[in-house]
Amino acid sequence: MDMAVMQKIVDSLSVKELLAVKEKIEERLVRNIDFKEFMEQIIEQRFAEGLVCPRCGGKHIKKFGFDGRGNQRYSCKNCGTFIPTTKTVFANSKIPAGKWLKYAECMNRKYSLRKSAEIAEVSLKTAFNMRHKILEAIQQSMGIDELSGVVEMDETFFAESFKGNHKKGNPNWKAPRRSGKSRKRGKQVEYRGISHEQVCVSVAMDRNGALVTAPACNGRLTIKVLDKLYEGKIEPNSTICADSHNAYKKFADGVPAELIQIERGQHKKGIYHINNINSMHSKIKTWIRPFNGVATKYLGHYMYWFNWCEKNRKVDRTEKGRRLILDSFSSTIIYTQADVRATKAF
Ligand SMILES: [Zn+2]
Repeated sequence: MDMAVMQKIVDSLSVKELLAVKEKIEERLVRNIDFKEFMEQIIEQRFAEGLVCPRCGGKHIKKFGFDGRGNQRYSCKNCGTFIPTTKTVFANSKIPAGKWLKYAECMNRKYSLRKSAEIAEVSLKTAFNMRHKILEAIQQSMGIDELSGVVEMDETFFAESFKGNHKKGNPNWKAPRRSGKSRKRGKQVEYRGISHEQVCVSVAMDRNGALVTAPACNGRLTIKVLDKLYEGKIEPNSTICADSHNAYKKFADGVPAELIQIERGQHKKGIYHINNINSMHSKIKTWIRPFNGVATKYLGHYMYWFNWCEKNRKVDRTEKGRRLILDSFSSTIIYTQADVRATKAF
């Protein structure tokens, strides 16, 4: 098209129309994404530390032809053959690398499952499994950050959700605790105090960018849960800033760390406050809203996804999909379709 004609069209559009066109352009770019050389990038990432056998850690590796799907095969002197996807979430997947990449691009744009499935040309069920396989790998490779210095800690709550659990034949389905009363998915529960139907997500962050966003338990946070979640993860002699919840007292003693408790309604004690964490809470709530109520058992995956997005917020948008897949590749795990279904909340 003539550039002048294109300019004329652009000039004639309102801001609203321009934004709609921008959305269409983005979508078109995802559909036509270039995944040449992506497989090579994946292999490089997988063996960033050198060619090592994913099964036994052996280093006597030789190239050994190709498998039926055209993947480079390697032979390990100790234990047999493997391909680059062995012992990753992509093991045994019939989905080619290009589709994974397209799908990851859709994830980064928070497209609906339906739209993502259509763009990546996979079934809805496959799309669902791909999402959780990627997120499980991200969770495993990220682990729990180590916190030090001034550490802000606080909890945020989500309504418990059994979304998707009701499907026939799901062995993990359990009836909601309180029957007869249905609640809109993911809607904020407003009780006085904190009920057992609320899922507690523990959030902790220091001032150097370490961030923990972990579903912890149903209802009020206890010392036992705190101890388990943060075992060895907070550097001794740090300063913990938290609200007046009792559990933090014993917890801080155990680390050991100094504890500065900010009473409700009080804003700060000098440099010690929980303002950063409070804004992080609203960021999480805003971020998760488009997903329309996440099933509690998958909340952990979404919290890691949020955390990953936070840590990669400076990565260029066009590079994010690649980054997501490459990061999922760096962990050696076995996580199958059956594992996706059997995922537990805590
Ligand atoms: Zn081996």
